[in-house]
Amino acid sequence: MSDALLRTPFPERAGAALKDTFLQEALKIATTKFIDLRKQSFAGFPQGEALRDRARAIKEATLQHLDVHLERLADNVERLGGRVHWASTAEEAREMVLRLCRDRGVRMAVKSKSMATEEIDLNEALEHAGITPIETDLGEYIIQLAHEKPSHIIAPAIHKTKGQVAELFSRELRGEFPADPEVLTAVARKALREKFLQADMGITGANFAVADTGTVVLVTNEGNGRMVTSLPRIHVALMGVEKVIPSMTDLVVFLAILARSATGQKLSSYTTLVRGPRRAGELEGPEEFHLILLDNGRSRQIASTLREALYCLRCGACLNVCPVYRQIGGHAYGYTYPGPIGILLTAMLKGNESVRELAHASSLCGACKDVCPVRIDIPRMLVELREHLDREKIAPWTERVVFKALRRLLLSPTAYRVSATVGRWVQRPFVRQGRLRGLPLVFGKWTKTRDLPPVAARTFRERWKELQ
Ligand code: SF4
Repeated sequence: MSDALLRTPFPERAGAALKDTFLQEALKIATTKFIDLRKQSFAGFPQGEALRDRARAIKEATLQHLDVHLERLADNVERLGGRVHWASTAEEAREMVLRLCRDRGVRMAVKSKSMATEEIDLNEALEHAGITPIETDLGEYIIQLAHEKPSHIIAPAIHKTKGQVAELFSRELRGEFPADPEVLTAVARKALREKFLQADMGITGANFAVADTGTVVLVTNEGNGRMVTSLPRIHVALMGVEKVIPSMTDLVVFLAILARSATGQKLSSYTTLVRGPRRAGELEGPEEFHLILLDNGRSRQIASTLREALYCLRCGACLNVCPVYRQIGGHAYGYTYPGPIGILLTAMLKGNESVRELAHASSLCGACKDVCPVRIDIPRMLVELREHLDREKIAPWTERVVFKALRRLLLSPTAYRVSATVGRWVQRPFVRQGRLRGLPLVFGKWTKTRDLPPVAARTFRERWKELQ
């Protein structure tokens, strides 16, 4: 995301999103639809809960021996004729792609959605080097035309209404297009078709990579992924190291829950299994296949508070149910990964300092944990992240002083009793219809949109005890 955007404090970014009526309309329609589809899908799938447990156990066991699985994956990819590259940082990963482009005279690259390429700002680097990147997923294509960033993990243009997309296409693709999704999809398809044939390189992410077989797995709904991986002469797949899974049997478990959690489908429309470049006698496929394994801060989190965030399948379900995301959308978060899991991934990739405001952008209601296909305990990690921010003195000093005072007060029965008595007097002007509303100073932020129960009056029994 741009530095200018990040210089704007989070409350201002969120405030602007709340005032954006188009955004509010688009978010409400899309997230409600995703929630309903997921609910219906799991309601008719009694094995779903057991598979979620199984998927979580596979992720946990894989992380225990991540190095072993990655080495086996690399061996198998190379055995199939592919090349494996290890990138410890975003810069290294970018440089690897650029070097491949330079060495092979690539002028245009078609892409199928990959949050990992967003994470390393690949498009900007390609453009800077004179290479044209073309996004080919409809949502990504829309935001590329609009010069924006994705605002959702699986639905990058979720913040746009169909009317806005029609205006954008009419302006950028020179035509008069109605706000009809079918027409707009056909327009994009026509514009993109020739790009697949012109491009020298196809760039994708990977939903999974199977260590036992060296298979890179792409889960998509639009079919463009297949063209990106088979038409250009070079295919580069970029994936975070945590995407490796041990076996094809494990893959079946993940496929059974991923699409249900993301879009409510039993399976996504296309599950593409890539096994190296084209072999002798095959009619389709690239001449070269490269797999870039991106660490970028992941491996140092294996033994940290944020370990569980490495289980994430990027299904987006936690975003759809999050009361904060549903109000402000993805751009207000300011980084590549939005929503509750995005806060943790940002802390993982960019350090705790980067989320000192965002760590509080959660009501800790637990809805994200309930819907997560691998049951990631996001609320627990957010609380621990807040604790780290306080301990590392990254949180604002006012917040640290308030929480320290509160801790002292709760630890001392006398201080607690005195403050309760004072509170009963002080609260009086703010009690309306039995609730505390419109509190002054720092408390005002809380009661601006919510209320609180007042400090309860003492019972006769409590008064009697105090008198004795
Ligand atoms: S944290 Fe869970 S629900 Fe959220 S995107 Fe990752 S896998 Fe999906």
